[in-house]
Amino acid sequence: CFCELEGSINDCSCDVDTVDHFNNMKVYPRLQSLLVKNFFRFYKVNLKQECPFWPDDSRCAIRFCQVQNCEDKAIPEGMKEKAEHREKAASFKYTREAQVDRGCSDVEDFDSALGFLDTSISDQAHREFELWAKHDEAEEDFCIVDDHDVDAQYVDLLLNPERYTGYRGDSAHRIWKSIYLENCFGGNNQSSNKFSSFVPHLDLRNLCVEQRAFYRIISGLHSSINIHLCSKYLLSESKDFLDPQGIWGANVKEFMRRFSPETTSGEGPHWLRNLYFIYLVELRALAKAAPYLRREDYYTGIAEEDEEVKLAINDMLSIIESFQSHFNENALFSSGIASIKFKNDYKEKFRNISRIMDCVGCDKCKLWGKLQTQGLGTALKILYSEKLQSATESGLWDKPHIEADPIFRLSRTEIVALFNAFGRLSTSIYEMENFRRVLSNRSILN
Ligand code: FAD
Repeated sequence: CFCELEGSINDCSCDVDTVDHFNNMKVYPRLQSLLVKNFFRFYKVNLKQECPFWPDDSRCAIRFCQVQNCEDKAIPEGMKEKAEHREKAASFKYTREAQVDRGCSDVEDFDSALGFLDTSISDQAHREFELWAKHDEAEEDFCIVDDHDVDAQYVDLLLNPERYTGYRGDSAHRIWKSIYLENCFGGNNQSSNKFSSFVPHLDLRNLCVEQRAFYRIISGLHSSINIHLCSKYLLSESKDFLDPQGIWGANVKEFMRRFSPETTSGEGPHWLRNLYFIYLVELRALAKAAPYLRREDYYTGIAEEDEEVKLAINDMLSIIESFQSHFNENALFSSGIASIKFKNDYKEKFRNISRIMDCVGCDKCKLWGKLQTQGLGTALKILYSEKLQSATESGLWDKPHIEADPIFRLSRTEIVALFNAFGRLSTSIYEMENFRRVLSNRSILN
């Protein structure tokens, strides 16, 4: 079923209505007001990274693929400063600990040293420690975050909504195919083309529980992206080619082509169920990280808004914690030593998926593809982080002040990606309701 990973992929009997009701009535409206806030709308990303796997096949010329640049003055100053301060403070804390570990004696008091960080430690030593700090933190990462690259830029997500772009054909297919192929652990590369599609058909009955979960997560993400393009479809184009406006709305025919049993050899409804699966994975991650997320300060420099965001986050996390049928992350990687290797393979495969995103030949799709894979990677990091687990078990988050290094940390970019990625899944489930209403006499989820 959606929440458990036992049994075959086709034997779900979980109640879609429960998730629909919970999402559409409680989660979706809250996310809608949260994600327009400054903290969440500006996302730092490198869209210029070269594809590491094959020569760039296209710099997409489709006009709806363009990402509108964000004017620097639109980004709250406080937010930029805070991001830099946060990174420096984190790296200094690590540096200080590393110095103590290595028997260095001239460690200054943290608070007083923060102000002149760069002078208290020689540049070279600082850089070296920074590298170690990054290496240490990256150990738990399921995803590559590129917000420190020189080419990384803030993008205003509200100016660049995820919707139909016209990106399709070989380039899009190559991306999806490469992503699904990451599921072929240990050379288990089955490529029979049962559905006359290029996506390798994996016989799910022969897969172990982790592989099945991997497939369902990716398939759920694929469904979500395709639901968005169906619900914000270009219904009528403006006659002026340079005019990006047009009439946008839901395209039921397109939705049916992509998901009805008749046009997908019966697979479409399963793909839609996988959307609910990934939704529950990310929901569980938010619930698990709730005590940590409540301590964040969501700083943009606009005091009133920051306080509002903190309250809204607290309210949403409480709703999420109240959900009864959470995904059980302990069903994965629980069988002894082999699991440790498997978990590492898994991480590597998800990291590869974030690299594949650099090969997407449509900037708008790349933006949202990167954001959603980063959000997913952050969710997996939360679910399988030993650091978070031990901080939670030792009651660290309940302490009024955390004096020591908080062990587990998410960057601003990871938090922004996590909430926005979850927002995308929540919107897809909400949009499903609209399609279901229109197609009321043709139940597509049965
Ligand atoms: P595709 O969606 O390309 O799917 C290919 C094959 O995969 C199908 O034939 C089917 O056999 C199988 N398949 C389809 N769905 C699933 C599923 N859920 N689970 C398992 N198997 C499945 N287009 C936009 O208009 N806007 C966007 O924002 C956008 N973002 C994208 C982001 C990424 C990262 C990628 C790779 C593509 C994006 N696209 C976007 C393109 C879009 O996803 C489709 O690839 C495109 O519309 C072509 O669709 P298609 O009918 O050929 O099937």
